[in-house]
Amino acid sequence: MVKRKLKERDNGDGKTDEPISSIHSFKNEEKKEFRQKLVTWFQENQRDLPWRNHLSNPDVDQRAYAVWVSEIMLQQTQVATVIEYYKRWMKKWPTLQDLAKASLEEVNEIWSGLGYYSRGRRLLEGAQKVVKEFGGKMPRTAESLLKHLPGVGRYTAGAIASIAYGQATGIVDGNVIRVLCRMRIIGANSTSQPVQNKLWSLADEVVDPDHPADFNQGIMELGATVCTPKSPGCASCPVQNLCLAKAMVDQNKHRNGNKLGINNGPIIADIECAADKCDLCLPENETWDEKEGVQNYPRKAGKKAAREEKTSVCVLCRRTKSGADQYYLVQRAQKGLLAGLWEFPSVKVEDESDETVGHTIQEILQKSCGLTLLPSTQSSMVGNVEHIFSHIHQTYIVQAVIVPEEEVDDSQVHAENSRWVTKEEFSSAAVSTAMKKVFKAFESHGKKKTSTADPGKNQKSITAFFKKKKE
Ligand code: SF4
Repeated sequence: MVKRKLKERDNGDGKTDEPISSIHSFKNEEKKEFRQKLVTWFQENQRDLPWRNHLSNPDVDQRAYAVWVSEIMLQQTQVATVIEYYKRWMKKWPTLQDLAKASLEEVNEIWSGLGYYSRGRRLLEGAQKVVKEFGGKMPRTAESLLKHLPGVGRYTAGAIASIAYGQATGIVDGNVIRVLCRMRIIGANSTSQPVQNKLWSLADEVVDPDHPADFNQGIMELGATVCTPKSPGCASCPVQNLCLAKAMVDQNKHRNGNKLGINNGPIIADIECAADKCDLCLPENETWDEKEGVQNYPRKAGKKAAREEKTSVCVLCRRTKSGADQYYLVQRAQKGLLAGLWEFPSVKVEDESDETVGHTIQEILQKSCGLTLLPSTQSSMVGNVEHIFSHIHQTYIVQAVIVPEEEVDDSQVHAENSRWVTKEEFSSAAVSTAMKKVFKAFESHGKKKTSTADPGKNQKSITAFFKKKKE
């Protein structure tokens, strides 16, 4: 555990004018070494990622656009997932001007499955703003990017400015938090204000003024590939000699060796913080856990449990003679969760008495798209499908109705913002991952029931099933 006692720190030049609480900061010579080692390591070890191919483009707006798209896609999404989405996006809209001409529907289609759909919408709005208000020229500093572009926060503004423009400004994302908290043994809740302030000031101080793009990409790359959450590779880390979490591990090993009478060489100095009540150290009640090693850092406050929600869903399928089934989709409202995306008719379960079975097909179709189903209609229960959104644990209670084509009257089954799609159209439509899971469950349910007779045989025609809701 980090000791807390007032003591002065030897700066290496015989002077002891810096208080030991600066343990959470880098000395000047440490900053220089950090920059030199990290930048060299990044230049030799960086992964070949599609957005990096745009960084040699002489057009600064194109570089900024390429970084902007990648950074927005990478928020809350793994690199491996983003690669194909990024390539598709840049093929469809190679320039900011191309994107500005796109529709939200097209953006949602390309974004489909990537999650957090407001990110795509904001990129579109941002591109339209840059074209309309700034003549197609991206704002040129982190401060102005932050001020003018929707969906661009402090991190994204810093990433675009440092990587595309070479502005020496720090960035703090999950990878940077992990590397800095370990290197400077910052063990307090990493989302707390004092820790966030410290991390931003550290990031601004250590960024290499001569190579800000490589330094910032390097520290994120280090966090993503070496200083990982669960299996940090300290032995191959380019900045291991500057890392206090690693020094703590070595110190403990040394002490344990001494206890066993093993000669471990020279004594390793204590790693100590001067402050009595430090906002950055591990809290008093959360001591250093030897088994965890460097993974003692960083720490987060307990995560809030996701809210439980249930939604009734109806997969309405019309079976054509050609064998190409079609599915009825309705569009969500243009605001809120999954705004503007297409989904099977769905209704949120509000009444606890409906919690296990959800709504009847009748209620789902009536409430979601204004269609009324006669009580005699046959439907089948597909089952429950779980999906976790960032803050919601959603359970979809899925039912299905299959009807023959000749018995469907399009003029009746046509709510506003609704459409029939084939399976192929469904897979490229602007639908969420959750709806894709629902569809998969419907298909496996269908396979299990392939022996079932023609679905339309004993059913009334859909014109009889549905009556338009009274206006
Ligand atoms: Fe991370 Fe280990 Fe490197 Fe420290 S030495 S920065 S803990 S990988």
